Amino acid sequence: MFNRRKFIKTSAISSLALAINKSAACTSKKKPTTVKPVVISTWDAGLRANKAAWDVLKDGGRALDAVEKGVMVTESEQNCCVGLGANPDRDGFVTLDASIMDEFSNCGSVAFLERIKHPISVARRVMEKTPHVMLVGSGAQQFAVAEGFPLEEQKLSTDAEKNYENWLKKSEYKPPAINIESLPAGKVDKQDHGPFAPKKLENGEWNHDTIGMVAMDANGNLSGSCTTSGAGFKMRGRLGDSPIIGAGLFVDNEVGACTATGQGEDVIRVAGSHTVVELMRQGLSPEAACKNAVERIMRIKGEKAKDIQVAFLAVNKNGEVGAYAIHKGFSYAMKTNNREELVNAKYIMD
Ligand code: ASP
Repeated sequence: MFNRRKFIKTSAISSLALAINKSAACTSKKKPTTVKPVVISTWDAGLRANKAAWDVLKDGGRALDAVEKGVMVTESEQNCCVGLGANPDRDGFVTLDASIMDEFSNCGSVAFLERIKHPISVARRVMEKTPHVMLVGSGAQQFAVAEGFPLEEQKLSTDAEKNYENWLKKSEYKPPAINIESLPAGKVDKQDHGPFAPKKLENGEWNHDTIGMVAMDANGNLSGSCTTSGAGFKMRGRLGDSPIIGAGLFVDNEVGACTATGQGEDVIRVAGSHTVVELMRQGLSPEAACKNAVERIMRIKGEKAKDIQVAFLAVNKNGEVGAYAIHKGFSYAMKTNNREELVNAKYIMD
């Protein structure tokens, strides 16, 4: 029979056991040492960008300053991928998108911005000087000029000019929009017009047009930045994931930060960077969270996943980093006190 005295005795014994277990758990489970500062950024241009970020981080500077300074290097490089010399839209104009987010969940972004060298810094001004999160097009440009950013000449880099000429030669100037009316019923459930960015090159590599960077400073605070010329030869007015908070970039100072690269349309579909941070909040490692988000996109795309590249790159509050891509070929640059390297990310298919 289960009487009250027996119950009290059993409870006392169980509480004692629990207390012992708890203290054993406390002593046996060592808290992982936090790696900080740390900065990671997408693709090989990240190596150069991380150096500039590190100049801020090594002196105890704020992650927000580091991620701005870091990607400014790539914006200045005048190559065909990021910044004013990048691949244009199909009308021949370079239109730039950027976003930034800090440890207080302040965020700012610009999109469809023309003739401004450092979109990331305009995004930061939007965050710090306006009541808004996002400015686009001529409004973003007016704001930039009012803030003292010079209006630059529009001039493609030699590579971008060549790429554009080639693209025009193949007469790829066709609207990718399909005529929905002409499709048989039941065939319009998926918004899918084929691959935009990055595209697989003839040598088997994926081109790319973005740098995304996330960092944790010596105080353990996180920030992130993302800047891009978007998909090369896109329709005029097209935006990808990079300027959209939650898609191309997301930071939650309690959990971690993530940035994305690849076909923006598909990153937006799953609110990619936000999804990765939420998965880390549930206990997944950065790598497992990135993999889960990649798989989610692949489930949606089905067969067509083989034609697109998407990659996520994340850091958590312990300074652990991880990445995952649909295809082979995505690399990220990492810098800590004792590491500086380009890492080939894991992927699902070749
Ligand atoms: N995510 C970018 C976009 O879709 C492109 C890229 O990462 O290369 O605009």
